[in-house]
Amino acid sequence: MLDGTWFAAIVERMKPVKPLPRSHVRVGRSRTGLGLFAAKPIKKGAVIVLYTGKLLRTKDTVVLQDHNRYLYEINKRWTIDGATRKNLGRYINHSCRPNAESDTRKRQIFIRSTRKINAGEEINYHYGRDYLVNWLGGRKKCLCVSCIRRRSEERALVRKRAARKAKAKAGKSRQRRP
Ligand SMILES: [Zn+2]
Repeated sequence: MLDGTWFAAIVERMKPVKPLPRSHVRVGRSRTGLGLFAAKPIKKGAVIVLYTGKLLRTKDTVVLQDHNRYLYEINKRWTIDGATRKNLGRYINHSCRPNAESDTRKRQIFIRSTRKINAGEEINYHYGRDYLVNWLGGRKKCLCVSCIRRRSEERALVRKRAARKAKAKAGKSRQRRP
């Protein structure tokens, strides 16, 4: 006999993913351009939006990769070209400390919250290592909030050290005077 919960779990995985109503999010101005924001509180584990677009064969997207940053590879066979403005998922910016994650089910890509998100908060997910290497590698610095904060903390530390050194030096040269 089939175990009920096991069967229910299988059925659940077969169903198409249904995101929250559109009213839960809004496109707004973010520090790096446009971003997607929570318009209402979003519970942990909620499917916020789908990442939609034209379904392409992954092998056909190699030529597009340098010009289109909205390609999302589902697997070796299928890639979604999410460049269309109808795709709410494309407005979500990368963060190295995100509040959501992307996941796929069959040929659907969706963005799911990994913690409670308050109304007004920007929604972010980690684009993955490939993104950081391909788009940011050597050319640009990551502009996500946590990286900007980390860099400013590092700069502050360097300034502090330099100030301490300068002070010590000044102290020494004072001591040397008669
Ligand atoms: Zn970052």
